[in-house]
Amino acid sequence: MSEQLRPECTHWVGSERRHCRKTDGVRRYITGLRCSEHTPSALKGLPEIPPGPGWPAHRKEAMS
Ligand SMILES: [Zn+2]
Repeated sequence: MSEQLRPECTHWVGSERRHCRKTDGVRRYITGLRCSEHTPSALKGLPEIPPGPGWPAHRKEAMS
């Protein structure tokens, strides 16, 4: 269990029985490190939320 020098996607690709381990565009999410293809939003088929300050889930409320 060593620390990775480069963050890599920890999404489990069930169909291929392996972890994604992609290092391109990996970001940290509540569920762990994810590449752009395996973010929580992407897995639900939702559009990706662009990075930025604040918590995106409440953006609509803040605008009203
Ligand atoms: Zn991935």
